Amino acid sequence: MPDETVEAEVCVVGGGPGGRALALALARLGRSVVLLERRDPGRGAGPVFRGESVSPDGVRLLDGLGAWEQVRGAAHRVDRLEIEDAGRRVLDVRFADFPYRYRHPVELPQPALLSALAELTARQPGPCTVLAPATAVALLGAGPAVTGVRAVTPHGTVRVRAALTVGADGRHSTVRRLSGLGERARRTLLERDVVWLKLPHPADWDRRAYRVRIAGGSHALFLPCADGRVRVGLNVPKGGLRQLRAQGLDALRRRLAALAPEVADAAREGLRGWSDTALLDIFTTEVPRWSAPGVVLLGDAAHTLSPVLGQGVNHALADAAELAPLLDRALAEGRGAGRALGAACETYQRLREPAVARSRALQLRQERLFTLAGPGAAVLRRALYRTVGASPALRRRVLAPAYFPGQRPGDRHRPAAETSPV
Ligand SMILES: Cc1cc2nc3c(=O)[nH]c(=O)nc-3n(C[C@H](O)[C@H](O)[C@H](O)COP(=O)(O)OP(=O)(O)OC[C@H]3O[C@@H](n4cnc5c(N)ncnc54)[C@H](O)[C@@H]3O)c2cc1C
Repeated sequence: MPDETVEAEVCVVGGGPGGRALALALARLGRSVVLLERRDPGRGAGPVFRGESVSPDGVRLLDGLGAWEQVRGAAHRVDRLEIEDAGRRVLDVRFADFPYRYRHPVELPQPALLSALAELTARQPGPCTVLAPATAVALLGAGPAVTGVRAVTPHGTVRVRAALTVGADGRHSTVRRLSGLGERARRTLLERDVVWLKLPHPADWDRRAYRVRIAGGSHALFLPCADGRVRVGLNVPKGGLRQLRAQGLDALRRRLAALAPEVADAAREGLRGWSDTALLDIFTTEVPRWSAPGVVLLGDAAHTLSPVLGQGVNHALADAAELAPLLDRALAEGRGAGRALGAACETYQRLREPAVARSRALQLRQERLFTLAGPGAAVLRRALYRTVGASPALRRRVLAPAYFPGQRPGDRHRPAAETSPV
């Protein structure tokens, strides 16, 4: 079969939250988009373990895209964040207490989010062609500028010619590698990896709380899922999964029960094999330049973060919301668009990078706190959490960069039920 060639103003590689949100935002502005996604939509709802926690700021961004009403039925609102260290509660944060319009994080399965974004995109004035499965394997361009992408599909090869190619293809981005933007990227391995699994939700647990349980140098996250289960992220030392597997499934159940005795029964019933678990190797990637002529990176491809405080989806959505209007203005220049697009991409990085850096710094501080192991260090950690918990101003200072970076305090005197759209 001969190669097919399609054309668009923008080619988006990757149909995760970032790529889908950008396609929607551009289509709303009337721009033509081709989106390539390597996963086969015919093969079920996709992987079970992907970012599901959407921060209050992510809700704000979805609302701005006109997508919140579409997904709110599938979202599970979270009211509290609770940290227990050595069996004692050291921090209890109520999201309703924050003085922002969008206060509550939600748990939102990625398949529901992605299909809502796709459905909305199809209703916009700008044409968006989605090719899936289609895997980008090469960049096009004779000179220094990228002019599109070559992708492989089950029916042959497709060339997409576009004024701009966007690498929204995740933490192991092919576009980043092929464009050379990954050459000076700094990858930092964190000390821990996370084993993810889902269990029945303990009946006596509040279904609207995030829980962090710490004991010595070990910790786990317990996040309520929209489907009524609890998503567990158990931290293991880097490379420790092999050791854990060698010890057997019972060792994993014991580790969980030691951190949260309430899940002991659920772990016995709900954890039947290693295929019920998924490992996330934790690293952060800092990419010095997010764009080159004809190509730009977005979401995890531009800045992979750790899973602490569920930041990845939010930043991918924020990137898309920032980038789309800049591209729209640049594309409006017609023949001079190449240079204008380059400037737009540089502006986008300048506007987005500080918020990403603040999240990364907050995550690294939090990771260090989690991994403090000696008795003296653990006492210090507990004292720190208690100090933060005791002061509303300090709570806001610590948590605002994670949960409310795009919002200003306001609506302070009105009850949450009246003002919060969640
Ligand atoms: C187990 C796990 C749990 C997580 N939990 C959370 C959480 O609770 N909250 C949170 O905010 N974040 C979480 N994250 C991170 C979050 O999922 C990501 O930060 C977020 O999805 C980034 O969005 P993205 O669109 O940039 O990239 P991705 O979601 O990774 O999407 C990239 C897309 O590109 C496609 N793709 C890749 N290569 C190609 C190619 N060559 N051609 C075509 N398509 C390609 C992929 O199939 C994928 O669909 C978690 C991640 C994992 C793995």
